Amino acid sequence: MRLTQRIVVVGGGVLGTMHAVMARRRGYEVVHLEREGEARGASVRNFGLVWVSGRRAGAELGLALRARELWEELGGAVPGLGFRAAGSLTVATDDVELRVLKEAAGLPDADRRGFELLDPRGVREVNPALRGELAGGLLCRRDAIVEPRHALPALRGYLAGQGYEWLPGREVTEIAPNAVRDHTGAWHQCDLVILCPGAAFTGVAGQYQRYLARDGVRRVRLQMMQTAPLAERLTTAVADGDSLRYYPAYDLPGRSALPPQPRVAERIRAQLLLVQRADGALTIGDTHEYAEPFAFDVDEDAYDHLRARAEALLGTPVPRVQRRWAGVYSEVVPENPQIAGHVLYHRSEVEPGVVLVTGPGGRGMTCAPAIADETFR
Ligand SMILES: Cc1cc2nc3c(=O)[nH]c(=O)nc-3n(C[C@H](O)[C@H](O)[C@H](O)COP(=O)(O)OP(=O)(O)OC[C@H]3O[C@@H](n4cnc5c(N)ncnc54)[C@H](O)[C@@H]3O)c2cc1C
Repeated sequence: MRLTQRIVVVGGGVLGTMHAVMARRRGYEVVHLEREGEARGASVRNFGLVWVSGRRAGAELGLALRARELWEELGGAVPGLGFRAAGSLTVATDDVELRVLKEAAGLPDADRRGFELLDPRGVREVNPALRGELAGGLLCRRDAIVEPRHALPALRGYLAGQGYEWLPGREVTEIAPNAVRDHTGAWHQCDLVILCPGAAFTGVAGQYQRYLARDGVRRVRLQMMQTAPLAERLTTAVADGDSLRYYPAYDLPGRSALPPQPRVAERIRAQLLLVQRADGALTIGDTHEYAEPFAFDVDEDAYDHLRARAEALLGTPVPRVQRRWAGVYSEVVPENPQIAGHVLYHRSEVEPGVVLVTGPGGRGMTCAPAIADETFR
């Protein structure tokens, strides 16, 4: 049997990059191709939340916790990741939301998540910037933050040197046994190909649609914004009560008592997530669009809603918005009745020696190191 020595990783997002990291840890040579000059997909457009709090009990929580350990370990070796064990506060503004938080704090795995229910005073002791009207909050000590705009170049800097070659601006157009060809016509020989194309379901990944269809992989588009720096530090990441509607950990009896969201929020499927960047800016999102073709423009109603929610929790206007963007991720359809068991992401050997990994959805930044590690186990 031929031993794997040289791996080609296709895709410079967090999944591809973490596969490069885990392959190098095992001593493989890595050639890493990315079609853009720098990763421009979901991995640089996200909040940088290493989010344990909302994960489904069982395998999903286990994967997120394992990934968080790996992020922390990498954070120690690669300061450019900006890893911060900041924790998060999910904030209730009324008794109905508070009931869900109380139920979550009583979950059998609440300790593993580092959950603690806080009254409004307790919330402000942990995060004094939250001066709005609150009914309480759920502290999650295990949640963490990395800097998505810096993390990938930082990881590549860590890998740089013997055994790792980064080739940006190369779109892989053909896959043959033990080699891939990029759009310049150059062939890259290898023993194993790891294909991490993110939400690019056409091009070279298009020929493997039937594998993606098996796990019902779909695409989701989100809107985001970032403000100018806020003078004050936010000590934790922050989520509002609408996030209780979306994360599986909060599928608890009290959730059914949540009233419908305001019309705009329901239309755009909004939840507020708020993360302060290392430079003080606030990343604010998000929305969820499932029907393709996606809008090519951004919707200002969504931003009005999210800004108002953020200002209500902070009790003060947010600084001027400096950046707006949308991002698309791929996800295995949650709880697809066609699929036995709950699949957390898609991995398949689409040809001998060619492994396709995608579809982690809104948990991809969190789980990428553990997913990559699993690929090599
Ligand atoms: C707005 C937003 C917010 C999010 N927030 C969070 C969060 O806070 N926490 C969390 O855990 N997750 C979050 N997610 C999800 C997470 O960002 C994604 O699951 C994750 O980034 C997916 O990584 P990826 O490497 O698979 O995809 P991508 O980042 O899209 O990378 C795929 C790369 O492959 C390249 N590529 C594709 N085809 C080829 C080819 N043929 N040849 C060469 N290169 C190719 C693309 O150019 C791209 O750079 C968020 C997602 C979005 C969109």
